[in-house]
Amino acid sequence: MVSASVLLPLLLGCPGPLPKGDAARPDIVLISIDSLRADHLSAYGYDRTTSPNLDRLARRGLRFVGARAASPWTLPSHMTMLTGRWPTEHNVVEDDIALAPDVPLVQEALSNAGYTTAGFVSTIYVSGGYGFSRGFGTFKDYGIAEHDNLAHPVRVETLVEDALLLAKEKGSGAPLFLFIHIYDVHYPYLPPTPWDEKFDRVGTPEEMRYHSYRYFQKRPLSAKRMEHQVAQYDEGIAYVDNAIGRLKEAWDDSDRPAYWIVTADHGEEFGERGSWGHAHTLYREALEIPLLVAGPGIEAAVRTERAGTIDLAATIAAMAGVSWPHGPGVDLRGAVPDRTFIAETSRFDSARLSIATQDRRLDLDLTDGQRTVFDLTTDPREEHGSADSAQADALEQQLWPLLGEHWVADGGTVRTLGLLWSGNARVGQSLVGPARFGLYPSDASVYLDASPPFRGVVTAPAAGLLRYEGPRTAVGITLADDTRAQLEALGYLQAEPEE
Ligand SMILES: [Zn+2]
Repeated sequence: MVSASVLLPLLLGCPGPLPKGDAARPDIVLISIDSLRADHLSAYGYDRTTSPNLDRLARRGLRFVGARAASPWTLPSHMTMLTGRWPTEHNVVEDDIALAPDVPLVQEALSNAGYTTAGFVSTIYVSGGYGFSRGFGTFKDYGIAEHDNLAHPVRVETLVEDALLLAKEKGSGAPLFLFIHIYDVHYPYLPPTPWDEKFDRVGTPEEMRYHSYRYFQKRPLSAKRMEHQVAQYDEGIAYVDNAIGRLKEAWDDSDRPAYWIVTADHGEEFGERGSWGHAHTLYREALEIPLLVAGPGIEAAVRTERAGTIDLAATIAAMAGVSWPHGPGVDLRGAVPDRTFIAETSRFDSARLSIATQDRRLDLDLTDGQRTVFDLTTDPREEHGSADSAQADALEQQLWPLLGEHWVADGGTVRTLGLLWSGNARVGQSLVGPARFGLYPSDASVYLDASPPFRGVVTAPAAGLLRYEGPRTAVGITLADDTRAQLEALGYLQAEPEE
C-alpha cells in the first residue's frame, strides 16, 4: 500500500485518471467566468472561435439563450448564484456587507448531504470574508483579500490544477461539488503568451493599465483602440476555454460522472452605451451571460425560456437530490416557467432597476425617473427603447412587489426601515447623502441627519426604494486600508473621479 503523501507529487502535473466515481451520485462542477458576456462565445454565435471546449459542452447539453445575471457586478451576482436569492433579498450589495449567517448557501446543503465541497476563487468579491467559504470543506481564495490580487490575479491554471488535485485526493467515495471562479476574462484583459496575440497584436503597457470607468467616461476610447481591447478580451476567453477543456478532459478520461454548469456573473460593455466596463448599467451587454448545463441524463437542447443565475442553487440542489426550499429558482433540467427577472445597481453613482419578462424589459433610471421599455423579441440588442407608459406601468407594477417591502407609512411621513449597523459602521443601506438615497419616484424628498446614524426621513408618497434593506442580522466586514485604496484606484469603490 502506497501512502497518499508518496503518491501526491507523482499526481501533480500528471494527467492520470481521477478516482472512479459513483454513477448514482455524479459530481457537480460550477464554473463562473467573471465578466463573460454570452455573445462573445462561439457557442453563442460569435464570429471568432473563442471557445471550442465550451462549444463542445454546449452541443452536449443545455444552452440557455438570453440567460440573465442578477447584478452587473461580482459580489451580489455570485451571492445570488450560491444562495438562489435576488440581491434585494440576500442584501450583499455593497463592499462592506457580508452574508447574514442565517441565509443558507447551496454548498452547505450539499455538504450536509455528504458531498465533498470545494471552492477555488480568484477575486476579493468572492472571498471568504463575504461569507462565500461557508459550507465548503476546502476553500481557497489565495489570500486575495489581503494582497494585490487585481494586479496579480490568480490564473485559471492555478485554479484548474488545484481542482484536479483535490479531485484526485478526495474523489474516492463521496461525490464532489466544485465551485471555480475564474478572473482571467475580467478587465484589464491580460491573457498570457501565446494567447495574447491570438486575435490581435500584443497590448502595450499603457493599454494594459487599469483605469476606472470614470476615467473612460472622460476619455472615450477610439474605435481602433476599442477593437484592440475587445481582441484582448476575446483572447482571455480563449485562454480560459483551453484551461476548462483540460479540466473537463480529466473527467472524460476517467470513469467519473459529473454535471457541468458554466456561466458568468455579468457581462461587459464595449461602448454600446458610450461607456466601457460593467456595474453601472443593466443593459443586455452587462447582464446577458452564458448558461450551459450538461451531464448525465441531459439531452442536448437550445433553451429559449428565460433563465438565469438565480436558478443555479435550485438546479445544483436538485442534481444532488437535496431539498432547497429557498428563493424563486427552478431546476433548469426540467420545465422552466415564465418568470420575471429583476436587477439593480447603484455603482458609480448610477441608480437603476430592471425587470425582464420573456419578451420585454423595463429599465428604470432612478436618477432622472426615465423609464425605457425594450421589446426583447424584435430588439434583442436593446437598441430601440420605447417610453410607452402603459407598458412601463405594467412592468413597474410587477417590479415593486419583487423588491419587497421598503417603506412604512407613519402618519403621512414615510420612515426608512432596516438601516443596518455594526458598532458605528453602516453595513446595510447605501446612504452617502440625500442625492444618493436611491428613492423612487425621484421627485420625493429625503432628509438625512448630518452624522451617523444617517436616519433618513422621507416625506413623499409611499414608494419603493432602490434597495431592499435586508435582514437585520447582516454582518459587516472591514476591508483593509490598502485593499480599499486599491479597489478605489481600480474604480470598484465609489471613489472620486480621476482627474
Ligand atoms: Zn464580476
